[in-house]
Amino acid sequence: MVKTLKNKNKTLKNKNKTLKNKNKTLKNKQHYDKPKIFNVNGVSIFYVKTNLDILRVDGYVRTGYYTENINNLGINHLLEHLMVNSYDKCNESCINYFNSLGHIINGHTREFFVKYVNNNILDNKSNKESLEYIVHSLLKPKKHIWKNILKREKNAVIQELKTLLNVSNLKFINEQNRILYINQGLQHIDNMYAQIRKLKDINIDMLYKYYNEYYSRNNICISIIGNINYESLVKLLKSVITKPTKSESYNMMKTFFSSDNYSSCIISPQLQNGCVYYIPNNNSSLIENDIKNKNKNKNKNKNKINKNVRIDFVFFNKLMYHKSIQVYVNVILLYIKRILFNELRTKSKYIYSIYTTPIYTSNNIQIRIKTFCEPANAKKVYNKIVILINDLIKNGFDIKLLQSVTNIIRMSYYRKQYKNNIELNTFYENEIIHHMGIDKNNDIMTPYDIRNCIDQFKIESKGEIYSYLCKLFNTQVMFYQYDYPIFD
Ligand SMILES: [Zn+2]
Repeated sequence: MVKTLKNKNKTLKNKNKTLKNKNKTLKNKQHYDKPKIFNVNGVSIFYVKTNLDILRVDGYVRTGYYTENINNLGINHLLEHLMVNSYDKCNESCINYFNSLGHIINGHTREFFVKYVNNNILDNKSNKESLEYIVHSLLKPKKHIWKNILKREKNAVIQELKTLLNVSNLKFINEQNRILYINQGLQHIDNMYAQIRKLKDINIDMLYKYYNEYYSRNNICISIIGNINYESLVKLLKSVITKPTKSESYNMMKTFFSSDNYSSCIISPQLQNGCVYYIPNNNSSLIENDIKNKNKNKNKNKNKINKNVRIDFVFFNKLMYHKSIQVYVNVILLYIKRILFNELRTKSKYIYSIYTTPIYTSNNIQIRIKTFCEPANAKKVYNKIVILINDLIKNGFDIKLLQSVTNIIRMSYYRKQYKNNIELNTFYENEIIHHMGIDKNNDIMTPYDIRNCIDQFKIESKGEIYSYLCKLFNTQVMFYQYDYPIFD
């Protein structure tokens, strides 16, 4: 009797211990509220309240490579470097200033936006400084210092571009971009040589003009993620974002893809509605002559190594965004990856890896499938991919495989629920740029919508996702790179 009681007590004690541990775990878990979107004096604010004591402030500007042309390639990147240092309180180097305060700052130039970052540990003084840095830099930068730091930052950008020259297959990527895009900025997005050449001619007046054209408050969205009370945040924002003094322009998006403009391709009867482009290994109309010659001389003395053929399939469609697209595209991509991996690697051993990537733009969705194989297998790999995709379009999904793929996607989204404030920003980035009208669809999914979508996902051979797949694969372009043509 006594003994049993003792044991019972012991169990109770253990139970309490477990409960205590449970509470501890709960407290350490990341929580975040649904985003709040509002406007303060003409500037869009995207705010996510979390329980982590880090404040992340990002300023997004609706410009980027797509607003560049052949005469000002690289201007966004250079301007971004100047802007990072344009806050009133820094003495020409904001990185020094903020590092000494314990903040991390940075800038990034992308296809359709440029963004400015400030991260710090939450405290009242730091919070104001972070917000002020982003708002003041973007709306009232210290432009007069630009001429003092122009040379320094131009060199920094050029050095940065030079390090990217070592990326493999750069010529191939440039040639792809030239064929796929009609927009000059996007055609040259990976063309470091052209950017370095043009950057040398960009002067201070061009930069002032470019700033005035694009850095207006209706082109800006500020994203704030952290443990700040909403009311005090609004109060703080109102003190930092003063009322506008002038009316500003609004830049609309244009069409980027040259999908009606395939002239130099081989029409492929196997691809339902597509073209095959051959891009020779040592050719690029976009690369400077002297560098081309240097490479030629180098190649002469090189021992012959059997190079691989790179095969890229690009599928795209002018299909507009709809509410379930992120989930659908993820399911379609993983499904395709699984069947290609099974057929081309496990069964026939033609290839060793398959890369699939989705690219979303304002009026287009692209899916890219990238593989490498030995020259002798190139035709077989090409035929196999075309057959498998045509087969998928003809017969629909295999229910069992679709079910397993959906389970994996569901699991990965659940895993993504808990994030720190820095990861959260990337998680919400699509939503922020959609909200800015960079993608004109406002029917964007939040992480909550995504979870709901997966939970209601229908496993059907020819259901909703299948009809979407057919539309998505409507236009097919295949690029391959090797020393001599393999297909005729
Ligand atoms: Zn840079």
